[in-house]
Amino acid sequence: MHAISNRRLRGAFLAVLASALVGYACASSGVNKGQFNMVSLQEEWQLGAQLEQDIARELTLVRDPAALAYLNRMGQRIVAQTELAQAPWEFHIVADPQINAFNIPGGHVYVNTGLVAATDNAAELAGVIAHEASHGVSRHGTEMLSRAQLVNIGASLVLGPRPAWYTQILAQVVGAGYFAKYGRDAEREADHLGVIYMYNAGYDPHGMVTMFQELLSRRKSQPGSVETFFSSHPITEERIQNSRAQIEQLPPRANLITNDAEFAGFRQRLAGYNR
Ligand SMILES: [Zn+2]
Repeated sequence: MHAISNRRLRGAFLAVLASALVGYACASSGVNKGQFNMVSLQEEWQLGAQLEQDIARELTLVRDPAALAYLNRMGQRIVAQTELAQAPWEFHIVADPQINAFNIPGGHVYVNTGLVAATDNAAELAGVIAHEASHGVSRHGTEMLSRAQLVNIGASLVLGPRPAWYTQILAQVVGAGYFAKYGRDAEREADHLGVIYMYNAGYDPHGMVTMFQELLSRRKSQPGSVETFFSSHPITEERIQNSRAQIEQLPPRANLITNDAEFAGFRQRLAGYNR
């Protein structure tokens, strides 16, 4: 009985999602419409919902409602500025001292408690969220699946046992902490969009610059602590300089948020998970 009602609920959710996303149905991909993507948005959200369930079983997620509420407020504020604002997005916290964050298809962004501990203010956390959400908006994950010629992703998840590619991706996410190693162009795109989304959401985009500088310097001082993040998002001095130059071109805007009243409490709530 339980399975049937779950399936019915999921069907209803997908029907709502399909109508919510109908405006995007003809786009071949996210904001980078020229890229090849065979996965429909509906299939992508279906894949994300399945991965989310399996990841929740495999990783230790933080269930603290106040911490999740803060992260989701920040995340929703950022994705509201994107081309996929109408899609349902969800932001998760992984109890793991490794400094890492990753996105999976279908609007899910994960941030480790170790990364939160490494941030100095709300804008730095927003910078990481904006970068990861930009990979999602650009649909880099499903572009990668499309290049691998994995056809009919939705149907293969509904019927029978999980396909091999799914099992491999899940193992990569839960074991290595990333969905895919994106290429240099994808990283550049996520940096560029991330700055715009942050700025439009009212966060100081310099937060992305100072956060990436922090990660780069930790790579020199404690390489092991940021290894996973760098293996999927190879930050370079050049990328940081590009973001800085992009920010300088933005019109001045008063009251950009560097920090907010809740950030310190949020970081404090999560500190216990890193011991
Ligand atoms: Zn990246």
